[in-house]
Amino acid sequence: MKYISTRGGMAPQSFSDILLEGLAPDGGLAVPETIPQVAAETLEKWRGLGYAELATEILSLFIDDIPQEDLRRLTAAAYSAEAFPGPKMVPLKPLKGGMSLVGLSEGPTLAFKDMAMQFLGQVFEYVLERRGTTLNILGATSGDTGSAAEYAMRGKRGVTVFMLSPQGRMSAFQRAQMYSLQDDNIHNIALDGVFDDCQDIVKSLAGDLDFKSTYRLGAVNSINWARIAAQVVYYFWGWLRATDQIGAQEVSFCVPSGNFGNILAGHIAREMGLPIRRLVLATNENNVLEEFFRTGVYRPRSAAQTHATSSPSMDISKASNFERFVFDLLGRDPQRLAQVWKGLDTDGQFDLSDLKSEFEGRYGFVSGTSSHADRLETIRKVKEESGVLIDPHTADGVKVAAAYVEPGIPMLVLETALPAKFAETIVEAVGEEPPVPAHLGDLASLPQRVVNLDCEVELVREYIRQHAPA
Ligand SMILES: *Cc1c(COP(=O)(O)O)cnc(C)c1O
Repeated sequence: MKYISTRGGMAPQSFSDILLEGLAPDGGLAVPETIPQVAAETLEKWRGLGYAELATEILSLFIDDIPQEDLRRLTAAAYSAEAFPGPKMVPLKPLKGGMSLVGLSEGPTLAFKDMAMQFLGQVFEYVLERRGTTLNILGATSGDTGSAAEYAMRGKRGVTVFMLSPQGRMSAFQRAQMYSLQDDNIHNIALDGVFDDCQDIVKSLAGDLDFKSTYRLGAVNSINWARIAAQVVYYFWGWLRATDQIGAQEVSFCVPSGNFGNILAGHIAREMGLPIRRLVLATNENNVLEEFFRTGVYRPRSAAQTHATSSPSMDISKASNFERFVFDLLGRDPQRLAQVWKGLDTDGQFDLSDLKSEFEGRYGFVSGTSSHADRLETIRKVKEESGVLIDPHTADGVKVAAAYVEPGIPMLVLETALPAKFAETIVEAVGEEPPVPAHLGDLASLPQRVVNLDCEVELVREYIRQHAPA
């Protein structure tokens, strides 16, 4: 299995080669040369597997330069009872109205990003060790991604994390989560600024090619292919568990979406032959993607046009993984793709409305949006009808999914976070604080480890110089 760039300008590379890179050298994204196919009999054979074993089977279709027994060790460590302490790994939770939640948020940071990050931590350590090199991960976070990355990379040999966060702009829960980590290889740097200032400093340091190569700077952002591949696993898992009793048949998935990473994995699973009827894409008020699937026009927004909402992890102006889906939509033709993205650069948008009939007809995609009022109403309603408290992002999913439920077709809504992370909106919806999982009960009282710096690129550069391992 080799990987190529969506824009056609990269010689085919192996999984381990693209693992540590961001964009392809031509500015495109790495995609598998061909999508592996899974036959119906194979699916049935997989019914008896545990989550980590299923992950080994599926990931080995995308990774042929790591021996399968090593991969087995990595997935066992990633999807261990220590990282996912609940009674079940990725439980399905039935709701009223033909829907079930897929419980992806039982990991250390209570959001679905742990599902891919925990594997990423293992495979980074493995590949770095095998190549005899090290990596300094530099990132900026407004909460979710940074904490998932830190929990995945803590204590990993060969990896050091420098995570910039905006001082005083994260919730008390998010701060406690990140800053209570005491591992030597995790550096929390709180800057006196907003998230965009943190992001600018990351761009500036990563753009300084001398500094970048001297200090072996890397990233773990949402375009990383290993994250997408690890996410494909839970679509198979969700399908298997939803059909254990009723036998092989189609199911639909609904995915609360931002950067198009999560639902892209669903698209890949469907292309691999998993019987998925519809992929329902849910957005919040930031409806860049809903607009595309409704009209065929992709129109990224400016920072000023991006709303700060009560499902903040979906507040995106453009969707960084979307190019991989458009590549398939254009018949995997890198020339056409490069043309379309050139148009995006010059016109600020592109129009693929001539392919609109394929969005649903060929690829199963439909979409919808949800507002703050919808979110509150849905959280209330699900609690009342089903006795389950859901988080604001999952609520966007449930709201949009409801319009696409069909008789006899299970609708699986991905639970992208637990309500404990977003107490303010939960209190607004139902008038009470969400429960905090037992293993995190004492989080708020743990000592915190964070350095505060003025928001200046030179101060961050100096900090990395002094703290990056030789
Ligand atoms: C990251 C995130 C999303 C959006 O996922 P994408 O892969 O960016 O589409 C949705 N909900 C939560 C809670 C998240 O953390």
